[in-house]
Amino acid sequence: MIYQRSSQLFQEAKKYIPGGVNSPVRAFSAVGGDPIFIKEAKGAYLYDEDGNKLIDYINSWGPMILGHAHEPVINAVIEKTKKGTSFGTPTEIETKIAQLAVSMVPNIDKIRMVNSGTEACMSAVRLARGFTKKDKIIKFAGCYHGHSDSFLIQAGSGAVTFGTPNSPGVTKGTAQDTLLAQYNNLLSVEELINANQGEIACVILEPVAGNMGCIPPQKGFLEGLRRLCDENDILLIFDEVMTGFRLAPGGAQELLNVNADIVTFGKVIGGGLPVGAFAARDEIMSHLAPNGPVYQAGTLSGNPLAMAAGLAMLTELNEKREIFDSINEKTAYLRDGIKNVLNRNKIDHTINQLGSMISVHFAKEPVIDFESAALGNNERFKKFFHGMMENGVYIAPSSFETWFISEALSTEDLDATIQAVDKVTYKDF
Ligand code: PMP
Repeated sequence: MIYQRSSQLFQEAKKYIPGGVNSPVRAFSAVGGDPIFIKEAKGAYLYDEDGNKLIDYINSWGPMILGHAHEPVINAVIEKTKKGTSFGTPTEIETKIAQLAVSMVPNIDKIRMVNSGTEACMSAVRLARGFTKKDKIIKFAGCYHGHSDSFLIQAGSGAVTFGTPNSPGVTKGTAQDTLLAQYNNLLSVEELINANQGEIACVILEPVAGNMGCIPPQKGFLEGLRRLCDENDILLIFDEVMTGFRLAPGGAQELLNVNADIVTFGKVIGGGLPVGAFAARDEIMSHLAPNGPVYQAGTLSGNPLAMAAGLAMLTELNEKREIFDSINEKTAYLRDGIKNVLNRNKIDHTINQLGSMISVHFAKEPVIDFESAALGNNERFKKFFHGMMENGVYIAPSSFETWFISEALSTEDLDATIQAVDKVTYKDF
């Protein structure tokens, strides 16, 4: 494949944009080479500026659960746009999407819209602190909750890819209030709680981690966290930015049958426009401004175009619930196909999968937390990434990311992907 125009565009972008990108993980730093520039996308495919067609497993990092340029979403945005793009006043569509989200997700009475997953998680933690009147939080190594200061302590995703889990600019004071536990390790949480009695406001985690590859919670882990939180007056925050409206209509809470106190959303809830949200039961949400003292605001929050896209997306997912089974089946098919090929080609690997999230690790040992995720063979991953792209398949340019399966992927696309894995790994890998 030729990527000439993408490379030229990247050189130009680097003159005016730091690193040539507006979000670091797009830059291919972990895998080498220049990023490709996308011109357009439809259904399961990306079309780049050089005219290459790629089967997409990033799906804008999750939102495109029904495929790119999905007609009902596009039409909703076009129609809304004709009536004005932002008013800074309440609009009816905000209530409509809130009502729908509350009806789909367990344990929430009210939901507040923001503009990104980062904002959602940052605000959820502030709310938890305001509600409990405690300062410290527990997060897990390798879980990513956006780039706000409290979370850049051994975060996953780009923060790991770039080797800067503790970013300069995060103050010591902030870092001190973030306590770090190990994913799938209840004891590590219990120890932190015991050592900081009466000081912990919340435990925040991705109920299925998607920022160190895909790492499902082991049996009893989430239930154990729920119990520890209940016993110690700590709020449990599920960051469902990836899992919300993807693993089930009600997200990971529904699929895994564990209740969170506050839930954060992003990605799918915006239908590909910049949206995040956080939600909880009334008792907690009543602490939020203007009803309560915990301040949180946003000029463009609940923006009509973003709400139109999100409402169209959630409406379809709510009305056609068979979609969830369908994307799960596609993912299982892909998992089995890739596994067969890698076994046949004698490549050490672990494939993690839950629902429509999946990751391939070039390591033999089970990948259950950040430490085991980091044991993967990165040289192999680089080869794999570039080989897959050469064969028309676009996966995340870092091994610390999950792949997202969309409903637009056909069996032919999945077979082509499995064949690409074979081509890339059958010799000299
Ligand atoms: N939480 C999780 C679980 C995420 O995966 C992400 C982004 N990938 C975020 C929060 C932050 O969302 P955003 O990039 O929209 O700020």
